[in-house]
Amino acid sequence: MAIVVQKFGGSSVANPERIQRVARRVVETKAAGNQVVVIVSAMGDSTDDLIDLARQITDKPKAREMDMLLATGEQVSIALLAMAIDKLGHSVLSLTGPQVGILTEHVHGKAKILDVNPERLRLELDAGNIVIVAGFQGATETGEITTLGRGGSDTTAVAVAAALKADVCEIFTDVDGVYTTDPRVVSNARKLNRITYDEMLELASLGAQVLHPRSVEVGKEYNVPIHVRSSFNYNPGTIVQEVVDEVEKDMMVRGVAYDLNVAKIGLFDVPDKPGVARTLFKALAERRVNVDMIIQSAMRDDKNDIAFTVGKDDLELAVEVVKEVNEAIGAGGLTYDADLAKVSIVGAGMVSRPGVAAMMFEALADEGINIDMIATSEIKVSCVVSASEAKRAVQAIHKAFELEGDVAANDEGFKAG
Ligand code: ASP
Ligand code: MG
Repeated sequence: MAIVVQKFGGSSVANPERIQRVARRVVETKAAGNQVVVIVSAMGDSTDDLIDLARQITDKPKAREMDMLLATGEQVSIALLAMAIDKLGHSVLSLTGPQVGILTEHVHGKAKILDVNPERLRLELDAGNIVIVAGFQGATETGEITTLGRGGSDTTAVAVAAALKADVCEIFTDVDGVYTTDPRVVSNARKLNRITYDEMLELASLGAQVLHPRSVEVGKEYNVPIHVRSSFNYNPGTIVQEVVDEVEKDMMVRGVAYDLNVAKIGLFDVPDKPGVARTLFKALAERRVNVDMIIQSAMRDDKNDIAFTVGKDDLELAVEVVKEVNEAIGAGGLTYDADLAKVSIVGAGMVSRPGVAAMMFEALADEGINIDMIATSEIKVSCVVSASEAKRAVQAIHKAFELEGDVAANDEGFKAG
């Protein structure tokens, strides 16, 4: 008997009708002869509503109490879904994260899962029950309730699937799967049948909001096949797995991602000597500013420029820190810009192919779009452009790599040659 883990997000359980629809889908999976564990998020926007409630009480809620509050969202949806399944005549029970034995580190608001105890789940499955588990939450060794960070139910689902050695972890969402780019930006973006963990990880961290990045990391670590599919239809979605297929290795670019949450800070005329970069980035790290791209220009007259990007929320704090560092190291001043975007191409096959980056730059040049910064890894090239040009940049790049949908029977991404 196969073990199937299914995860339904907040929009899939936003109201009683939708919960009943999810219940029918779960029951179908069970009736097809599978053991089924279901992970659910809080109903609709209820996590946001809870955050809002806290804000009405205080600006500075204790992180521990925030977790206590937010964890209630998922407790509502698991109970209601269990009731709906029971009404359909199937044995079912709901369990909170702590009841399952989802052990996390002792960090509130963004705890990492350390371990999932499969015992209780196995017992319930073997007794013939469908098990509904609250996403996004766990408990520390001492029983403190923690949450995993926004969107964390995906991670609960993949971690539970790993612990049970499930055959598949199905992530149900409101789109048909993972697309070559955001279909709201490019209407003929194509759904991908398969994508590797590394590619998905890049896309997820670059702003494609289909899967929580941490869930992909867990999937990769434990080799859990993740099936991203629609909760509104039965179309096959996108399978995330470690693809070793020779044909797939050929593919250069699989997707184009964009991120509008980008701000840049530049520091001029930085003395070129050992320890300067350390001083700057250590100061930023100490204030918990998350730095993304870093560029240092070529040296001239024993000086160079350093530029880096941060999320817009961190800009104010980062500028404060850089001003201090500027004074301390005797650099020549700073500039910043908050109206930027990062546009990226991702594909495992680009490792061995020269010219991919040049194709991307050409697509931007042809559109008259200026590139502000460039960063690369083995499987991605990212360009910072002005925010107002981001959409046009994505469209041009998507077109240049021929990622559009109607290419006959080819949903595998751009192939070289
Ligand atoms: N309910 C949580 C959130 O809205 C977790 C999740 O939806 O995955 O972020
Ligand atoms: Mg949610």
